[in-house]
Amino acid sequence: MAQWKRRAIFLPPNGPTPQQVAAEQERLNEKIHVLTEELHELDRRLPKMARTIRRARMRHRCTQPNYPLPANGHNDLLSRLQYKRSRILRSIFLCNRRKVNAVPRGFSRNHGFPSVEAYELGPPSCTCVFCGAVMWPEECTYATRSHTNPKFSLCCKQGKVKLPPRRNPPEFLKQLLESENPLSRHFRQFIRQYNGVFCFISLGGKVDRNINDGRGVYVYSIGGQIYHSIGSLLPPEGQPPRFAQLYIHESTSELQSRLNVFSSDQTGNSLRPEIIEGLQEMFDQYNILVHTFRTAREILSEGSVQQMQLKLLAKRQQDGREYDLPTANDVAALIVDDTGQDTFEPDIVVQYQSSKLERVSYYHPSLMALQYPILFPYGEDGWHPAISSAGDEDANLWNDNNLTQCDYYSYRLHTRFHESSSLLLSGKLFQQYVVNAYALVEAEHLDWIRNNQHKSSLC
Ligand SMILES: [Zn+2]
Repeated sequence: MAQWKRRAIFLPPNGPTPQQVAAEQERLNEKIHVLTEELHELDRRLPKMARTIRRARMRHRCTQPNYPLPANGHNDLLSRLQYKRSRILRSIFLCNRRKVNAVPRGFSRNHGFPSVEAYELGPPSCTCVFCGAVMWPEECTYATRSHTNPKFSLCCKQGKVKLPPRRNPPEFLKQLLESENPLSRHFRQFIRQYNGVFCFISLGGKVDRNINDGRGVYVYSIGGQIYHSIGSLLPPEGQPPRFAQLYIHESTSELQSRLNVFSSDQTGNSLRPEIIEGLQEMFDQYNILVHTFRTAREILSEGSVQQMQLKLLAKRQQDGREYDLPTANDVAALIVDDTGQDTFEPDIVVQYQSSKLERVSYYHPSLMALQYPILFPYGEDGWHPAISSAGDEDANLWNDNNLTQCDYYSYRLHTRFHESSSLLLSGKLFQQYVVNAYALVEAEHLDWIRNNQHKSSLC
């Protein structure tokens, strides 16, 4: 197990939007305008005041030359006005300086990062008695904070969430994830690109490519609506195969086709053929989704059928709390004749040949395995609504009382000694997975609000 070291992280507040910055600059401009008017008014009054004082002094000297000048109200007023003028000039200077990098009120001046000192927690010294997650004592529930054996809710809601342990990856992938040889380090550096070479579906959204400017740790940032799409079994006429089509398309060299996926990208030239070849063999041997697409390829190559659809099934016969690897019957159905077939909504129907992309429902158990084959090398199921809570023995499949996505990912993102840590060792791809999972959790919340608006008392 890797050396445990963790610091408390104080998340920075969200930075100001461009509109907020523009509004702040506008406010400063108005303030500068008011101050300038005030300064001009003072500049008109001050010479008059100085002239009046000068004349009074001259009169005084003429009448009483042997006595010192008297202290009068004009002197005091003049000094106050001169002081006020200097303060106005300073305010104008400060406003002009703040305009250069305007930060609205309520935001931290140092680019949103509060200047707090890191707090060293030390290694995690506790284990959850329910699920075996490795935890820090500070993460225990408030009620058990003074107990000798504190309890934890973050990982498994005190035993209410129960999922099958993650299995060890195949040896080839395990070496790539854990070894320190140059090839493994290269794989981990380009792990997102290698995953992109083998994924079945595409991830839609606006990826922020400017956020990684060479400073700090790698950040995966995506905005807008996030969706997953899948193409047809065969690419449209004249177009190269992409994503799942690479598993079916008959070509002289599948390896070269996969290398061409990133040919327009600079990183594409860096991908190593020996890694792609090894991963391809590994998926052919172990991944149940790859087996399904290979079967479709064999049927198509026989030439006995002209039209065919592949339906990736969403319903599972097994309990999702005990098994995460679907059986061959659970995964897919090949549909040769399309008439009169019942389609369960979250099923993924892959058309024979089309230029249209189909959206993939986030309720589908294989969604993450299709998007992240390197994280799910066996084609394991991810979250789906039919996983019941441990305390909900009589729960029916696909009802409203089963495990939520949030609980599922809270459980999965913890480390346990009795299961593989391959997910946490996947670096940049793990970051992308977590961001994607968060987007799906948000999508589930929005769906719930959309479907329950009539029940809400606020509407
Ligand atoms: Zn637990």
